Amino acid sequence: MSWSAGPPTVRATGEGPLLDRLVRMAGGEDAVLAIAAGDDAAGWRAPPGEVVLVTTDALVEDVDFRRRTQLPYEVGWKAYAVTASDLAAMGARPALVVVTLLLPADTATACVVALQEGIVDAAGEDGARVAGGDLSGTAGPLAVSCTLLGAAPADRCLTRSAGHPDDRILLTGELGAAAAALERLEAGDPPGRVPGAERWLRPRARVAAGRALAAAGVQCAIDCSDGMLLDTARLAAASGCGAELWADRMPLAPGLDDLWGDQRLARALTGGEDFELIVAAPAAVAERLLAGSGWGAGLPPLAVVGRLCPEPGLTLRSGPGGPALPIGSTHGFAHF
Ligand SMILES: [Mg+2]
Repeated sequence: MSWSAGPPTVRATGEGPLLDRLVRMAGGEDAVLAIAAGDDAAGWRAPPGEVVLVTTDALVEDVDFRRRTQLPYEVGWKAYAVTASDLAAMGARPALVVVTLLLPADTATACVVALQEGIVDAAGEDGARVAGGDLSGTAGPLAVSCTLLGAAPADRCLTRSAGHPDDRILLTGELGAAAAALERLEAGDPPGRVPGAERWLRPRARVAAGRALAAAGVQCAIDCSDGMLLDTARLAAASGCGAELWADRMPLAPGLDDLWGDQRLARALTGGEDFELIVAAPAAVAERLLAGSGWGAGLPPLAVVGRLCPEPGLTLRSGPGGPALPIGSTHGFAHF
């Protein structure tokens, strides 16, 4: 379904019938939902003994997405996934999604349905479901916001502030694929010809990895959404530490050379939207994880990429004990 879908528009369909259609897509009551979407509020049977986590994020047209590069379904998918990434970083399991849609009146109804399908499908991949939402018209750009509720064992939430000096910094997966795909899509390459396009168009939150980390005794994490340098600096500052990162340990996505040449490290460290998890853990915990204890099949690769240190600030070194590399104009960090 493309943005140029034909009539009816949401103005012609009307708020009530459109909302009814979106509510039907959300599904009925089940073991999780005591009261399903469609009433004044939904009712969640939250898991006993677990802490409930809530987070929200919004995608705004021409700020966070463009009709030229993303289909309605993909915008919905991503609106869910970027929000789920924050729950993954807490070691939580997404359970319920509440959707707010702000729609220009001339939006094709079929596009709104496709967008909601993207949200429902992405949530379904994590075992989560839509519990309700709201619609409104807007004279501005289209915007979609997902609020997610999730749950985690109360003593096992990952936080940014739980790191300590000399903790190892670990990273799931690899960096740079999403930023590289975005650059190629913005340059006009068709998605079918952009390697790794799905990493930017249809990201997946590291939910299983976050839960495995928490179960293995990790206490400190953040998701890598705004770039490795910036999000590592955030984690370190929240933990009252500084951080050093090791350039030669950074797992970069394949194929970045073709696009960025010798700028690939700098671009991969600052590009953002990787939706990997950045973790701080005591060396013994990190070693157990790397040895495969508590880190099983189906989970992404895990690499030690640096350490927390007592001195504040962020340093990029060539490797452990190696010389500091400039971050600033050459690595983009100063731009933030
Ligand atoms: Mg985050």
